[in-house]
Amino acid sequence: MAENDNSTTLDELKTMVRTFCEERGWDPYHSPKDLAIGLVTEASELLEIFRFVRERELGDLMHGEESRQKMADELADSLYFVLRFAQLYKFDLSKCMREKMEKNRAKYPTKDPAPHATS
Ligand SMILES: [Mg+2]
Repeated sequence: MAENDNSTTLDELKTMVRTFCEERGWDPYHSPKDLAIGLVTEASELLEIFRFVRERELGDLMHGEESRQKMADELADSLYFVLRFAQLYKFDLSKCMREKMEKNRAKYPTKDPAPHATS
């Protein structure tokens, strides 16, 4: 059976990241500041894929095998840092997400034309 988002839990991904880091002795390099920097760096690498791409070129980019692979890699790199931060510093990501979405629902009621940005 293929492993995918439907069959994999966040806890399994956290364990995968923890094991990977423990096998390499990386705990001393993973302060919360280090991990936050890593997250932003990887998110910037995702953004870089879109640098100088015009609106009319986005469709091709989103369907290109090579560009999609780059996006997949940077999404995974970004998620790695989210998971590692949560795993090492005891954040329950499901709880974080549910609570923040509740705040977003209050901040952006459905009757208003809501921007997509959150803060
Ligand atoms: Mg990367």
